[in-house]
Parts: sequence; C-alpha cells; structure tokens
Amino acid sequence: MSKKEDIIGLYEKFVMHTYAQSLVLVKGKGTKVWDSEGKVYLDFMAGISVCNVGHCHPHVVDVIRNQAGTLVHVSNIFFNENQAKLAEKLSGMALHGKVFFCNSGAEANEGLIKLARLWGHDKGKYQVITMKNSFHGRTLATAAATGQDKIQKGFEPMPDGFSLYAEYNNLDSVAALITDKTVAVLVEAVQGEGGVIPATNEFMKGLRKLCDDKDLLMLCDEVQCGMGRTGHWCAFQASGVEPDAFSLAKSLGNGYPIGAIVSNKKLADVFQPGKHASTFGGTPLACAAALATLDVIQMEGLVTKARRAGDLFKEGLESFVEKYEHVKEVRGKGLMLGMVLDQPAKPLVEKLTDMGLLTLTAGDNVVRFLPPLNVSDNELEEALDILNDCLAEMHGIQIQEEEQVEAAPAAE
Ligand SMILES: *Cc1c(COP(=O)(O)O)cnc(C)c1O
Repeated sequence: MSKKEDIIGLYEKFVMHTYAQSLVLVKGKGTKVWDSEGKVYLDFMAGISVCNVGHCHPHVVDVIRNQAGTLVHVSNIFFNENQAKLAEKLSGMALHGKVFFCNSGAEANEGLIKLARLWGHDKGKYQVITMKNSFHGRTLATAAATGQDKIQKGFEPMPDGFSLYAEYNNLDSVAALITDKTVAVLVEAVQGEGGVIPATNEFMKGLRKLCDDKDLLMLCDEVQCGMGRTGHWCAFQASGVEPDAFSLAKSLGNGYPIGAIVSNKKLADVFQPGKHASTFGGTPLACAAALATLDVIQMEGLVTKARRAGDLFKEGLESFVEKYEHVKEVRGKGLMLGMVLDQPAKPLVEKLTDMGLLTLTAGDNVVRFLPPLNVSDNELEEALDILNDCLAEMHGIQIQEEEQVEAAPAAE
C-alpha cells in the first residue's frame, strides 16, 4: 500500500477535505524532499517555515530518538528538565520574562489573548486590536483576531473582544480603534499569509510608544517570522523595540509540534495555577526537539546565515522585476521573501512544483519563499534557474529566446 492512487483514495474516503493537496511526499533530507514516484524537489517552503534547520537534521533526529526511548510525556503536574532548560533559552532570546508551553500557533496566540485579558481584567479592559490581512490561527478566537474575511466566513458569529481591523503600517489607523476597553495590540512583524509584508520600523516603534502611552500591551505573533527566519531571532528585533509578549510555534521544534508564549517580566506572573493549561504543552520529547533545533541554529550560525542568504536570494529575485513585466516587486526579510505578481500566483506556484521547486502563495498574487535557513548558495542558484525558466515560459517563448544567454538550460 504505497501507490500514490491508493493513498489518495484513502484520503478521499476518510480524511476531511480541508486542504488542496497535490503530491504524496515520502522522504526529506536537508532542503530536499522526495515524492512517492521518486522525484526530488527543492523545498522552498519547509513545511511553511517549520523545518528551519532542514528536513531530518542529524542532530535533531538523534536527540528525538534518544528522548523517545527515555521519556516521552509526563503531565505538567510534574517538573521536567527539558522544559526548564528550553524556557531559560527562550527567555534569553528576548524579553527575559517567563514562558508557557503549548502545541501550535493558534494555541499560542489564544494564550497571548487570554494572558492580555487576565492582565486587563480588573481595569475592565479586554479588547485586542489586530491588523487587516493578518493571520493568527483557526480557533474561533484566533480566527476572530485574523483580519481576513475568508477565514471567518461561515463560522459567524465570531467571538467578541476584537476591534475591527487596523491598517497595517498605519499608526493613525491603530490609534483610531483604541477605546477604554482596549487591552492590547497584536501584530506580526512580517505578515506571512497576508502577503509577506514587513512592518516598517517606524510602525513598530510607533506601536510601542502608543501602547506605553495608552497602557496597552504590545503582543507579537512570531509563529511564522520568528526563530531566525528573518535574520533576527525574533522579527520584531529588527525595529529595536520589544513587545510585552510574543508567540512561537511552527519552527520551534523543526517539525515536532510545540508552541510557546514568551513574556517580559511585567507579565511573567499573570498566569497563576489553574488559570491556563495544556496536557501536551512542553513534554520532555517536544522540548528536546526544540532544544536540539535551537542548538543547530546556534552551532551553524543560521540567524546570520538567513540574513546573508536572504540578501543573495532577494538580489536574484529582484533581477526578475526588471526582466519580466508580470513581476512587480520583491519584499520580505531574510529568508522570508515574497515575489509580487500582477496576477494570481497559484498557476506559477503549480508550474514551479512541476519543475521541482516547492513554494507557496501568500495572499492572492504573491509567490512566497521560506527555504530552510541552512540552504546552500548552490540551491539558491538552482531555485533561481527554475524560476527563471518558469517566468520565461509564463511570458511567452519570445522572451525565453531573448534571455537564453542568462537562462539556465531547460531541465528536460
Ligand atoms: C501558521 C500561523 C499561525 C497558526 O499556527 P498553527 O500552528 O497552524 O495553529 C498563527 N500565526 C501565524 C503568523 C502563522 O503563520
């Protein structure tokens, strides 16, 4: 039972149809994955910014194997060493307060919202301001926080406690939504799903000041842009400001599910016993995976590498803006990059997949690139060559002929 058709047949019968899948993937190593037919792909989405140190990194695999044979799970009514060590590391990464562990991005953001509400409760403050085009998850509260109609449609009424959405990178728009019920502002330092849109430093600095002036909490969703992805441990660090708390998930365990909230000292003791919990939050195995991932990022210098590789790849992508009329702009930070088209990006993403390069859309018209942070320069070149071929094809044969000198030889 490993034929592609058999697997897809079982999905059709037994798996709820919430995704539009294409390939059956069976193996991964570094920046490469293999499908059930043996075809190899360059993975420039890394599980949507999850496998940041590459698929099956030997150190992470070793640590998970050892821990799986030692202790997988104990309830949080007991201490476990890995959770203590991981909390110390994450607190050292930014804010220097305390950490709460959970299992996913939505759960981490839900926790941030609960933390903010508990902090504001005695002052009668509970409303959270979020941004248009944001993405914070698929639970009811985080879907309500998400400023995109398509995420909420059909699930109304949405939970209360979120102001209608502010314009991203527009401080006046945020200020206009503040009422005496507002408790916090939640923001992605680089919007991912919304179209790979970085916050300006002025916006982040302005938000910090606004929150200080109005006695609000500033919360950052680092689920996609955190853990070194943008060339900083946390994407908000580019602006030099610090939020009061932030969420992590996706890449924290390099594919082993784990999420976390990291707070500053002011919020470190807001949650007290009985106020918040998670059965699987911070198990010995999940924390071992995250500790190993952090070790690799540190040992291989991947935060700096993400910045350097990102600059290199961005330069390559920018050359397409001049070369191809349907490519309008390249934006993003580090290895979180988007190539903006003047048309829907899905057909190009599908073509790239056929040609052996896995990418994602973001918003409607952006091709999103999230390769592992230890992607090699050669792999970046290889991806640019595939892109060039596909863009040439998209623009018609004439352009392909004109550009033949620079274009890579066709793969077939
Ligand atoms: C993916 C994502 C989430 C949701 O994470 P899940 O683990 O899927 O619940 C939240 N915020 C951002 C910015 C994300 O990219």
